[in-house]
Amino acid sequence: MFDVAIVGAGICGCSCAYMLTQAGLRVALIDATGIAAGGSGAAGAFVSPKFVKSGPVKEVSEAAFRFSLTFYQEHFSELTSVSRLLHFANNALSNERVAYFREHTSLAQATLEPEYLEHINLEARRFESLVLESSAVVDAHEICKKMAAAATFFKIDVNTLHHQGTSWSLNNQLRAKRVILTTGAYRHVVDIPYFTPRAVFGHRINIKTSSYNPINVHQFVSISQSDSEGVIAIGATHDVHYNPLNASNQRYDVATGRATLLEKARRTMRLEHVDILKDFTGVRAGSVDHLPLLGLVVDSKKTLEHLPKLRRGKQYDINKYEYYPDLYMMNGVGGYGFVLAPFLAKMLQDFIMRGSAVTPLVLPSRFLRRWCIQKCR
Ligand SMILES: Cc1cc2nc3c(=O)[nH]c(=O)nc-3n(C[C@H](O)[C@H](O)[C@H](O)COP(=O)(O)OP(=O)(O)OC[C@H]3O[C@@H](n4cnc5c(N)ncnc54)[C@H](O)[C@@H]3O)c2cc1C
Repeated sequence: MFDVAIVGAGICGCSCAYMLTQAGLRVALIDATGIAAGGSGAAGAFVSPKFVKSGPVKEVSEAAFRFSLTFYQEHFSELTSVSRLLHFANNALSNERVAYFREHTSLAQATLEPEYLEHINLEARRFESLVLESSAVVDAHEICKKMAAAATFFKIDVNTLHHQGTSWSLNNQLRAKRVILTTGAYRHVVDIPYFTPRAVFGHRINIKTSSYNPINVHQFVSISQSDSEGVIAIGATHDVHYNPLNASNQRYDVATGRATLLEKARRTMRLEHVDILKDFTGVRAGSVDHLPLLGLVVDSKKTLEHLPKLRRGKQYDINKYEYYPDLYMMNGVGGYGFVLAPFLAKMLQDFIMRGSAVTPLVLPSRFLRRWCIQKCR
């Protein structure tokens, strides 16, 4: 019997495995394919904040950025490359946002050597920009593996989840007192009709180039600093129409994706003598309000039996909802899984071990009433 079973070994599952094994729990980490085999294995794994002006997305994103940047440096420094981040706006709307961010952020800013700007195209420089003192790129695969090291890994496609007595049975193969669902853009293992992950397919590439880039640059795509072998990561495309998890989709055209990535990177900076070393593709899962989901999973069927007026939009305290016992989820981290996951996993560790509250901004229950009004009258 495990204290916790985590279904899904991407950055969300691996961050939970790390925090909970650190807290002394016996953890089973389960994945149908392997560690970092989903969206997490495709990520460029840039660790940077979201450049938004205000509101809950900024609040969560900035807190997560500060936490995770320090976390990676303290615990996985050998897999974390820290550098300044040059962030450019890329259209008229974001121009105003970036200027506002630069004037109001409390994140430390830095300057650039004038000669560095010679690598940046004039067109790019017409947009507003700012330079953050610190951002990072982490080694996605290795960090997931290291985070998972103290958990017991099982390669199982989990199809059934039953609560019996005081524990969960997974596929009638494994038992655990608690279950955490970190299944990203894949199908749900239990009924969660009020949250459908917004699947966004992405492609990124690793290139070798004779152009040296000492810092991370974001504009139309993200361009990493050159590593010790001169390799630069460029990513990612955003495609809401193609989804390899959906069997009916056509094949993906890798050559077009590569050309798009290079063209976008070259709109920002000069990259000469480019060889494409490797392609990475995967699907990330976002939410409609751009905030992640973390917390207990609502049992919508039981809740509606108990609170039928929810169907007519009546508002209830979320403590009145019915929850599956000891069943948690972490999902909806979108294009910021490597920023959000360690921060959210720490929050979950504090909730499980000490009963500390999870910020209401990210609770999955926030979607239940909206779903009822729209779908279940
Ligand atoms: C091209 C690309 C570039 C990106 N770049 C960045 C970046 O620079 N910075 C950043 O922060 N984020 C980036 N992202 C986003 C980041 O990759 C995601 O936010 C992150 O991978 C989400 O992690 P996850 O653990 O939720 O999901 P995933 O990594 O998709 O993991 C889910 C796992 O669950 C498993 N699973 C699902 N259902 C079951 C089941 N029933 N039984 C067993 N196993 C199951 C799957 O096999 C999968 O391994 C990028 C994404 C892509 C695609």
